Amino acid sequence: MQQQKRDPMDAGNGRGGQKELEEKVLRTGLCTGCGACINICPYQTIHHDRTVTLHSCDLAQGRCYACCPQTPADLDDLRQKLYPETEGTPELGTIKGFFITRTADEGLRRNAQHGGTVTTLMTLALREGLIDAAVLTDEGEELLPRSMTITDPEIAAKMGKSRFVVSPTVAEFNRICRGDAAKIGIVATPCQAVALAKMRNWGEDASSRPHLRKVENGIEKLHLVVGLFCGWALSWQKLAALLKEKTDLSQVTGMDIPPSRYHTLEVYTHGETIRVSLDDVTPCVRESCHFCGDMTAEFSDLSVGSARLPEGWEMARSWNQVIVRTKRGMDLLELARRRGVLEFREPSAENLEKLKAASLGKKKAAANRL
Ligand SMILES: Cc1cc2nc3c(=O)[nH]c(=O)nc-3n(C[C@H](O)[C@H](O)[C@H](O)COP(=O)(O)OP(=O)(O)OC[C@H]3O[C@@H](n4cnc5c(N)ncnc54)[C@H](O)[C@@H]3O)c2cc1C
Repeated sequence: MQQQKRDPMDAGNGRGGQKELEEKVLRTGLCTGCGACINICPYQTIHHDRTVTLHSCDLAQGRCYACCPQTPADLDDLRQKLYPETEGTPELGTIKGFFITRTADEGLRRNAQHGGTVTTLMTLALREGLIDAAVLTDEGEELLPRSMTITDPEIAAKMGKSRFVVSPTVAEFNRICRGDAAKIGIVATPCQAVALAKMRNWGEDASSRPHLRKVENGIEKLHLVVGLFCGWALSWQKLAALLKEKTDLSQVTGMDIPPSRYHTLEVYTHGETIRVSLDDVTPCVRESCHFCGDMTAEFSDLSVGSARLPEGWEMARSWNQVIVRTKRGMDLLELARRRGVLEFREPSAENLEKLKAASLGKKKAAANRL
């Protein structure tokens, strides 16, 4: 039987244009602010952490809709296509390897969120020429993240720490795809990794996805996706309003969410740690995050989160858990081991089981809300 040729705009089973994007995503509060629909056409832009439509578009099918992480798609089908060589797990997606790591560089560790694994890997990838540009996130005014393209490994090494408001990294990726960079690496939250996976899946013909245009030697521009584990992101407006009651925002140097039993968001300023109850933080969670079932960035080359260790949180917070999903991810991690830039600890059998349980919890909560 002859197979019907796949429609390159149909990333799974979703079809639509800007009108459907507006109806199903932007007006329903489901927009994640990932930036996938920005910089691929002039009609959408980002204002603070919100996606804004500048002009109406009457195309029946558009890339903005096809690549939005919130439009319908058969994610199992996408997974099988993009990760054909490894069987997926229902809780965590594809797993080629599971590791506990941290950077070997003490200076970098001080400037990192947890073990500095993400910064170490992105810096190494730039230094070794595995990528020639990295899309990373910095902090702008009043805790609003800024997505930036970095080509200098020395600068990338200084760009650690998590910003708990969405950073439109996919918009920045779309922007630099039009430039000279041939191999681009990106640090992405789970929704952003889904958007990038949908882009990868756009038909076989590179001309149907110009921002991913293959360079002469056949290497795709989207070259490395380092995913972040993510419980939720916060609305910028609500977070800023909440923290303004407690401190001067310009004094905030970082934040973290310790394990759930602490029920706290820690906010670090020059000189003190402010502990904010999750009862006050939960109302600031972005609406779209309540419907997200991906805790570990399943559509990345490797994904990184905070570790859990028998010695307790004070020790664990300077280590990471890493799930490797692709050969490219494994090659990078093994290169980091050979170069001595990452330290490794043996994970206990419990580590993976606990992670699976937490991830399943997020999937169930999202499914119940749907
Ligand atoms: C919104 C959010 C929620 C998270 N929730 C969890 C969680 O529930 N459980 C868990 O284990 N881990 C969570 N993480 C991941 C965790 O905070 C660390 O990023 C991760 O453990 C890697 O630590 P690291 O020391 O290797 O990172 P670092 O070496 O410090 O590097 C951090 C990297 O993250 C990038 N980055 C910072 N903010 C953003 C952003 N908003 N969007 C995209 N990229 C960004 C930076 O560019 C940098 O490359 C979350 C991260 C974010 C951004």
